[in-house]
Amino acid sequence: MPIFLVLALVAACLPVRWAEASLGFEPPLAVALTGGAVALVLSFALALRRFVVRTVCADPSRRFEVARHYGTWRRRLFFVNLGTAAACVTALGWGAAVQSEVYVTADGQLVLAPFAELLVPLPYFAILLGCWLIYFGAERALHAAQHPGRPFWSRGGYVLYNARQFALLVLLPVLLVTGQQTLGRFAPEAAQSDAFRAAMLCAGPLLVLVLPLLMKPVLGLKPLQPGPARARLEALARRLHFRCTDFLVWHTNGGAVNALIAGLVPRARYVVFTDRLLEELPPDELDAVLGHEIGHAKHMHIWLYALFLLLSLSTIAALVLFLGQRLDAAEAPEWVRVRDTLVGFESWLVLPPVALTGAYLFVVFGALSRRCERQADVYGCKAVSCANARCTGHDATTVFPDGARCLCPTGVRTFARALDRVSGPQDAGPRGSAPGRAWRAFVEWVKHWSHGPIPKRIDYLMGLIDRPADERRFQRRAFAFKCALVLGLLSALVLLGTQVGWRTLLDAL
Ligand SMILES: [Zn+2]
Ligand SMILES: [Zn+2]
Repeated sequence: MPIFLVLALVAACLPVRWAEASLGFEPPLAVALTGGAVALVLSFALALRRFVVRTVCADPSRRFEVARHYGTWRRRLFFVNLGTAAACVTALGWGAAVQSEVYVTADGQLVLAPFAELLVPLPYFAILLGCWLIYFGAERALHAAQHPGRPFWSRGGYVLYNARQFALLVLLPVLLVTGQQTLGRFAPEAAQSDAFRAAMLCAGPLLVLVLPLLMKPVLGLKPLQPGPARARLEALARRLHFRCTDFLVWHTNGGAVNALIAGLVPRARYVVFTDRLLEELPPDELDAVLGHEIGHAKHMHIWLYALFLLLSLSTIAALVLFLGQRLDAAEAPEWVRVRDTLVGFESWLVLPPVALTGAYLFVVFGALSRRCERQADVYGCKAVSCANARCTGHDATTVFPDGARCLCPTGVRTFARALDRVSGPQDAGPRGSAPGRAWRAFVEWVKHWSHGPIPKRIDYLMGLIDRPADERRFQRRAFAFKCALVLGLLSALVLLGTQVGWRTLLDAL
């Protein structure tokens, strides 16, 4: 979800004239109404917390059922919060109040203060902070019921834990965009120079390159201490010819069972494991998880994502320019009417491209990412597979081949078990009416838009035990998909770039 939150916050920070959407409240009233709306949605969070704490304290055996309801409602309230913040910025007049009140004088003119656009999504930030403070109680109650005796965060520690993730994944890109706008206001010549434009163009890929280095201090990650776990992971990395800067531990107080890889090059590449993953997974399953992360590196997925983002964002910019030029040049009466309707709302025209980017990423990046996850899953199976395609189990004497070239039934089962363990308790099987089931399947799919639902991933891998040839077909198709995507984007960019003019495109970027 962070990627869509980034887009929503970027949209709020763009130079849209919010006054045009407001219901016309004066700034003091707009502020009061916004405060009221924030308080209203926080009262929903309070009600959810009360339900969780009361139910779990009265009957700890209902902890898993309550955790599921809590997760579902928290997700629903996420959208309510976002919608409420959007209503504050637009209809209730918060955005207009910020734009009309937060000024400084530069060269004798009134200009929006540096980084003042960050105040536009302030209602969302307030709701977010309020939710962290409120949900702490619910999370603590669930944690106490699920892991008796295990310490939990202090309230401050819990807020900091959430704030760190938010800062790295959401705030950092939003800050870059607002920084660029601030520079455009206060040093327009510098912001329009070719050198600056080229630097901004490289900022995205550069961010991907340095993000792993920032990740360690921002999330407070610690190196995995020397010991049996580390020795085992290092041995597997050597066998798979994989290099990284370090293995890191993410201290979540048992809040997350997860692993991730970040970084394009071995010198700035980390593999991160959460504390609970290291505690709960047996050694062979931990190997399988590291195998999955190494699979992402071996298949060059992070490079592919960086290239995909660069090409996609440039192509979308070129497409928007192209459509704009066509609309400007169109002489047919219906297009003239469209043009006339848009007069006065020019500042709003920056928003449709943001929405388009969101929809595009959801569909196209989702499709790409699900294929890459499956490739990493298969690699994870191979990382813990022996050379015997009919093996019935592994023991201390099993010899694993160098690299990850073979696939054996035990390797597949080990990886599938690890995947099942990180997925946590799943919803019971299909129940209810047909439309209800279809809706739940759709929600599951949307929830897992970038990775695919875990039961489906497990089913596919288990199927490979009986049909190993499926793997080669899948790899061929995945390769063809990636080639078609990159070539398609490249051709679209070249075609649109020649149409709108490369100079105009560079200026727009
Ligand atoms: Zn993955
Ligand atoms: Zn085997």
